[in-house]
Amino acid sequence: MTYENITHLHRRRFLALSVSAAATPFMPRSGWAFGSETHSTMVGDIELTVISDGHLTIPSAVLAPNAPKEEFEAFMTGLMGSVPETVQPETNHALLRVGGETILIDNGSGKKFQPTAGKLLENLSINGIDPASINKVVFTHAHPDHVWGTLLEDGSLALPNATYYVGETEFAFWTDPETEGMMPDDFKPFAQGARRDLLAVQDRVQLVKEGDGIAAGVSVLDTPGHTPGHISVLVDGGDGLIITGDAMASEFLSVQHPDWAFGFDSIPDMAIASRKALLDRVATDGHRVLGYHFAYPGIGNIEKASEGYRFTAS
Ligand SMILES: [Zn+2]
Repeated sequence: MTYENITHLHRRRFLALSVSAAATPFMPRSGWAFGSETHSTMVGDIELTVISDGHLTIPSAVLAPNAPKEEFEAFMTGLMGSVPETVQPETNHALLRVGGETILIDNGSGKKFQPTAGKLLENLSINGIDPASINKVVFTHAHPDHVWGTLLEDGSLALPNATYYVGETEFAFWTDPETEGMMPDDFKPFAQGARRDLLAVQDRVQLVKEGDGIAAGVSVLDTPGHTPGHISVLVDGGDGLIITGDAMASEFLSVQHPDWAFGFDSIPDMAIASRKALLDRVATDGHRVLGYHFAYPGIGNIEKASEGYRFTAS
């Protein structure tokens, strides 16, 4: 595998941004999931609530580093009026209530990554959800914005009663002591953080693979490529829903141009293949998707378009 893409990005600038909030919005934001603004819906018998961890700031150059430059610039200009220096993707956590269980997909950045993220616990509290009531956590993958919320500043678990479901390939990759050495220097913190958090919960980890059940009507889809063992979550009820993690990083770029690898896709060809398979599946079977970095709450339908696909919030 290669992190070649990432090495070509504005790495130092990205890390510098992680301590300052830039002003350019990615998309019109609907705000964090405060109180009555929190989005809830039913997927069959399963209650879905979307809890925000805040938002991130990343260079727009990271969105599609291998796309033809003129096409990318034309696309961004059509979307936002110009090509901004930075974009601000949101962070949408699915909280599922099924059969007396409370399941959270990913646990956010904690206070370790960017100052505008790490709001998950506050937003759980505002919504009257006790972290101790969450009995299962699914990690789509072990990047900072998805797992660095595992430990509180005092080293205790933020979600003390959870079993952690992790793709077996993902767990093996990030807990391998040699993984850090494969990373460019500026990204070694990604490997250190993933290893820290996965090992912190290793006694509670349930390794999973394609088709494994998390709870009644909730199961695992293998969608590798963004990271080696990235998984998505299938919620089987009503019209169905797939929680895509970062297999689709944007409701615009990933959907309309699935061939454009996201800069953080660690195995670009595999990520593109997984994304296309997922898009084709949901455009065919009518399942909705929930994208982690889509505009809140990030839920919608996908349909085939003349070029690529189209996302419609629903
Ligand atoms: Zn992410």
